[in-house]
Amino acid sequence: MSVTSIDSFSAAPAAFYQPGTVRHDWTREEIRALFALPFPELLFQAQTVHRINFDPLQVQISTLLSIKTGGCPEDCAYCPQSSAYETELKASKLMDVEAVLAEARAAKAAGASRFCMGAAWRSPKDRDLEKVCEMVEGVKALGMESCVTLGMLTPPQAERLKDSGLDYYNHNLDTSPEFYGDIISTRTYQDRLDTLETVREAGINVCCGGIVGMGEGAEDRVGMIHALATLPSHPESVPINMLVQVEGTPLAGGAALDAIEFVRTIAVARITMPESMVRLSAGREDMTDETQALCLLAGANSIFYGPKLLTTPNPAQDRDMRLLEKLGMAPMPL
Ligand code: SF4
Repeated sequence: MSVTSIDSFSAAPAAFYQPGTVRHDWTREEIRALFALPFPELLFQAQTVHRINFDPLQVQISTLLSIKTGGCPEDCAYCPQSSAYETELKASKLMDVEAVLAEARAAKAAGASRFCMGAAWRSPKDRDLEKVCEMVEGVKALGMESCVTLGMLTPPQAERLKDSGLDYYNHNLDTSPEFYGDIISTRTYQDRLDTLETVREAGINVCCGGIVGMGEGAEDRVGMIHALATLPSHPESVPINMLVQVEGTPLAGGAALDAIEFVRTIAVARITMPESMVRLSAGREDMTDETQALCLLAGANSIFYGPKLLTTPNPAQDRDMRLLEKLGMAPMPL
């Protein structure tokens, strides 16, 4: 496990980039220097970049539904859906298309512009993929953007999803290449990069980010952002998750990550991937309004909305709306 402390990085003025310029050649040194900036300076730079590309008062709202829960053969150490761990999660089979579309209609009525569907698979079977494609078509017919996360894909499966009208495919890198083996043993970092390339080649937008607070070191957060920001194309959507510890998973009981470190990770993602939507994802339930407000100031401009994030709790919708209202912010229009 990497134990580098952020204090050991020297803070250098980030004079090596033009705010808002899209680059794919970020070095680890540059990203380390961003993490080490004094907090007010880091937030100012993140805000500057954010305002070049986005309306700082708007937040894109996505809703995420678990369409097939639990029983997953992968062993991601943070995940209650893995069949490798004893958790209280109840597994269920793939939902019916109509039941999923009823949830999508409710999400739209509550203000969501994107409907994301997650299935706990290593990779989808072709017959299940057909059902998912029907769901995507139904979501599109509602005038919403669609996103799915189904595990690894073959090129024909990615093509089939593209033909159904899919807008986004989520597949996270999770953490740095060095720390990855401490978290997952059943698929490699390269497997993930290959799926991302398959999705890109099919012409589908990419949603790809990671999780912090898993016991990684500061250098692993640098490595995670470096891996994302040096992809051949930046993901259109970059979810940054704070680990939600679930009893029964190997990561339960670990030390929580300091909230300021989380905000720094959001800010560095914003600066290095200036045109991407940076999504404040899992872990919001346990964050104060003040921490969430700092994340939005640091350049996060997308949140998941709804009572559950796949299988872990998410703030109640009215709490989210009250927070946006308090901050003078509003959902991004459809
Ligand atoms: S994160 Fe996804 S792939 Fe990993 S165990 Fe959970 S459901 Fe399976």
